[in-house]
Amino acid sequence: MNGKRKIILIIRGGYMLTFFPVIQDDELLYSVYTRYHERSLNKNENKTIDELHLTEMNPFLPKNIQYLIDELKYFDAPDIEYFLNFHSMCNYISNFISPNISGGLSLYLTKGTGKAEAYVVDKIFSENKYLKYCPVCTQKDFKTLGESFWRLSHQLPTLFICLEHKIPLDRIDIPNHKIGFKTIAMNELNEVSFEPLTKKTMFYVKLFAKQSFYLNRVKLNLYNSIQSQDFYRLFVEKGFVIGSEIDVKKLKKEIVEFYGIEFLELSGYNTALFREISERPLFFSNIMTPIETLVLINFFFNSLSGMLIYNKRTPKREIASSLLVELLV
Ligand SMILES: [Zn+2]
Repeated sequence: MNGKRKIILIIRGGYMLTFFPVIQDDELLYSVYTRYHERSLNKNENKTIDELHLTEMNPFLPKNIQYLIDELKYFDAPDIEYFLNFHSMCNYISNFISPNISGGLSLYLTKGTGKAEAYVVDKIFSENKYLKYCPVCTQKDFKTLGESFWRLSHQLPTLFICLEHKIPLDRIDIPNHKIGFKTIAMNELNEVSFEPLTKKTMFYVKLFAKQSFYLNRVKLNLYNSIQSQDFYRLFVEKGFVIGSEIDVKKLKKEIVEFYGIEFLELSGYNTALFREISERPLFFSNIMTPIETLVLINFFFNSLSGMLIYNKRTPKREIASSLLVELLV
């Protein structure tokens, strides 16, 4: 599998490359940069930012990846698609934004141009920004690698637990994204203690996790199926509209019963959405992040593939793959 291939660097002679780390499977590109910064002899972060031809370091949106590719020469020469598909959230994010903004995002990630960043970060990530990690995976990293790294899959907004260790992910807050080149230190790791999640919560956590991985592999162009008017039609179809008003009380009650409070709290679901649906029934999707979007999709269709089939806008091959992913939950 492509994502599993190990990358071996050939040092082309530059100072920067001497310290460049081997990229781990499922490693966020930001994480590679942080480990590079730690290995380098750079006394401050600005020097590292200069070397990487960046102006700033946003953990979720690594810009100017082409520069990195031009600078590094590998035995198996991964291209821009490799970095976008396996070390960034490009596909995942593109599924939730308009094709126009998505094009801008690609330019930003590859060439470092354009202004997609602020819009994308606000649209995709919840108001409180944080990096997530599994304390057990991290401890394992220290034992096997001598250092830790940020996993890409753990950063997907709709992934809430480590699937390997079945525990909720810990968080490190990043106010205003001013986190710099942050790695997790051994002494920052909390004792692993948590209340076991209910069977119902685990079911939805796993379902969302599978869907998250899939969304980060395939561009399904969900954007045209997840607008306010699309959900409004469903509210009408499923009996949530009385007269011209949406029965938000009923909608809220049924969504809470469907998922359970535990799952909704764990996911960080924004309950302000109910008020927004009531006040702006044709414009509420503006405040939806992928969390609220997947909550509504699974509530109405039980699956991602259910919605794709309903909308019939997605090629059959993608629908079949999505169905397969969800059957494997
Ligand atoms: Zn883990």
